[in-house]
Order: sequence, then C-alpha cells, then structure tokens
Amino acid sequence: MAESDPRRRIPRTDRLLALPEVERASAQMGERVVRELIRAVQDRARSGRIAPEQVEAELLSGLGTAGAHSLHPVLNATGVIVHTNLGRAPLSDAARAALQDAAGYTDVEFDLASGRRSRRGAAARAALLAACPAAEDALVVNNGAAALLLATTALAGSGEVVLSRGEMIEIGAGFRLPELIASTGTRIREVGTTNRTHAEDYAAALDPATGCVLRIHASNYRISGFTSAVPVAELAGLCHDARLPLVVDLGSGLVDPDPALPEEPALSTALRDGADVVIASGDKLLGGPQAGILLGRADVIARLARHPMARAMRADKLALAALEATLRGPEPPVPSALHIDPAQLRARTEAVSAQVGGRVVDHDGRVGGGGGAEVPLPGVAIALPEDLAETLRRGDPAVVATVRDGACLLDLRCVPTDRDEDLIRAVKAAQAARAASAASEHP
Ligand SMILES: *Cc1c(COP(=O)(O)O)cnc(C)c1O
Repeated sequence: MAESDPRRRIPRTDRLLALPEVERASAQMGERVVRELIRAVQDRARSGRIAPEQVEAELLSGLGTAGAHSLHPVLNATGVIVHTNLGRAPLSDAARAALQDAAGYTDVEFDLASGRRSRRGAAARAALLAACPAAEDALVVNNGAAALLLATTALAGSGEVVLSRGEMIEIGAGFRLPELIASTGTRIREVGTTNRTHAEDYAAALDPATGCVLRIHASNYRISGFTSAVPVAELAGLCHDARLPLVVDLGSGLVDPDPALPEEPALSTALRDGADVVIASGDKLLGGPQAGILLGRADVIARLARHPMARAMRADKLALAALEATLRGPEPPVPSALHIDPAQLRARTEAVSAQVGGRVVDHDGRVGGGGGAEVPLPGVAIALPEDLAETLRRGDPAVVATVRDGACLLDLRCVPTDRDEDLIRAVKAAQAARAASAASEHP
C-alpha cells in the first residue's frame, strides 16, 4: 500500500471499538455483532464505495438500526396474506405484547395462587376451547407437521394409517406428508385413486392393522373435473362402526366457515361431522404464531398428550402466549387482510399512488399458504417500473412487491394501514436511489 493510499486513513478497529457510542452498543448487542458491522463499513471504505472519513459516521448510523439478530422487518406489498417466505402470519398487537411478557420468567407451568405446578399452556388450551366449542379438548404442539406426526404415530404406531391416493401431498420445500408419517414406522395404506376415492375403498382397507383413518385437506392444490371424495360425516360413520378414530388435517386453521373462502372447510364443521381429531397450523388463517393445533375428543387428545413424542414437540412459552392472545384479543392482521373492504383498499391505494406515482390497476390478492389455494381476492395495486422492485427490497424498511408483466406491483392489502406513510417514504427513497444511479451511469 503506497504512503498516499487513502485506505491508510481508514480508522482501525480498536479505535472504533473505543468510541463511547460503540462501547454502549457492544454492551447491548454483543461485541461480535459490532465487530461485524465495523468490518463491513471498513470493507466499503477499502473498496472505495465510501471515503475513509465517512467510516465513523456510517458505523454510528449503522449501529442505530442494527440489532443482535439479522431478520429484517418487511412490508409485505405482495397481496399474499399467508406468505411462507415472509414468516406466514404477522401477529396482532396483543400477540406481540404477549411475546414480550412471556419472554422473561412466566407462569407457563405454575399456579401463582397455590404456588404449585400447573398444566403447561392451560390458558392457550382454554382459549382454543372457547374459540371452538365443538372440541372437548385441545393440545398445542410445535407446528402442523408435528401435530400430524403425533396423531398418526400415537393412534396407529407400527400399524396402518388409511389415506386416499388423492391426498398424498407435498407441503412445500420438498416435504411430503406420507413420508413424514412413514418416518416413525407407521405404514400408509393407500386407498382409491388420485381423482376418486369411495366409501367402499375405505371399508375394504379397514382391518386389525388399521390404527386410524386420515383425511388431509388439499390446502395448496385442487383436483377438479371427474372427482369424488367421501364427505367427513360419512367417513366418520364408517370409522366409528369399526371403532377407529378419524383424523382430519385441515392445515388452514379456519375455526368456523368464512364466506370469503366458501370452499375452505372449517375445524368446527369437521368436528361436528364426527372427526375425532382435527389438525391445523397456528400461523395460517388463524393468524397466530407457529403452532400445531389438535382439537377433538377428550379421550383421543389425552392419548396423544401421553405419547412420549408429545414432549419432543411441545410448544414453547412464546408460542403459547401469542396463541392465547391471538384467540382472545382483537382481530389479527390475517383475517383483517382477508376481509378488507375493497373500496377502502382502493382509496388507500389511490392516496399512496398520488404521492409516488404509478398507475392503479386491478390486482387479485391471495390467501397463500394453507387454505383457499386458488381463490382470487379482488383488489388493486400500484404499477411502478419493474426495476424498482430490487431497490425496494434492499431499502429500510424492506418492501417486497410482486414483479409481473414488466411491472413492480404494490398491493396494500397486507400493509398495515398505519404504515402507509412508511411505504410512501420507502418508495420515494427507492425512486431517488434509482434516479441517482441512472444519473451516474449516464452522466
Ligand atoms: C400447512 C399444512 C401442514 C403443515 O403445517 P406446518 O404448520 O407448516 O407444519 C400439514 N397439513 C396441511 C394440510 C397443511 O396445509
């Protein structure tokens, strides 16, 4: 490095660590995080993207927005409500507050009145039973896949689970439910065909090896055309004549039927139709934290809760607290986005568009993961130049839009109404950054 090399002027790590603001940040977030930030800013100076004299100021502003974790909050402008890549359900304010309270010591398994140990998650269980009176008992585990595995393992063990060939599904990222079930040694007895399965198919498969019959809801695909499936009520009759439990995995977590999703089966309906256990995820249409929810007959739920595997899948205190608050508190963001008033959505969209430009176009929202697979939710979006999408994603807050047909589409359905100003600021900042980089490319 030559004597005159500006890189010589880059402040050294020990000098930066000794700055009072940096020392304070180290105490709060840990020195490792701070050192990483320092290295990143120094690298930017080394590669000439900033001047050595800017290092200190850049570091201090970086510290202001940094934390000990690296997940970034995102404004979801895709119109997809339960977006798996964006963490599925955003929690209600009540659920967020519950997380904060449960983060320290908390009475998750303790009765403050008597000073004795209590049943873990009793409050979340009570909230579930209040929300779904058709269930006699409830159990919460880590996620929907765990709930399914627990139900089939506890009820069928090394015996058989009877499942229609039309319900052998893959839920994403290469995970196949039949493989999941088989992973504990439970065998799957396939019945029927991909498009049609009849009551006789089930009846012919039931034998002494059968542990339970499973119905899995097609939450992320549709089989249409020449199709036939046995209704839950009929399947339940068949199971109960054979003294076998019927497990229904609905995935979505819709507790009661919702007119916005007329085809989506509800937990309460399946229970009234005779299902012994129903399964749902906490972070799909229920709008809560990641959790696997099992609702059903008291004796069957007790069997599941007693199985050793239940301990390996138990819900953590944060999820239990957030689930209870989701169920008891005000309407969470997921159902709000599903039931959004189209006129209000259009008015908001036009107001934002008046600030940032672009055209307001028709745009259908989607439920996304775990329910109402193909149902379009009519709405609108702001169409902006396609190349804005990347700058928006890299901004603060990060804004994730949909890129389609050469446009960057901003759908406000899943953007909290009190964040419209933040969205406007983020779009204006992205537009300014694009303009600046265009000017430097073509001076
Ligand atoms: C989503 C889903 C699951 C898996 O639930 P997770 O909470 O993602 O583990 C299982 N079955 C069905 C039908 C689903 O839709």
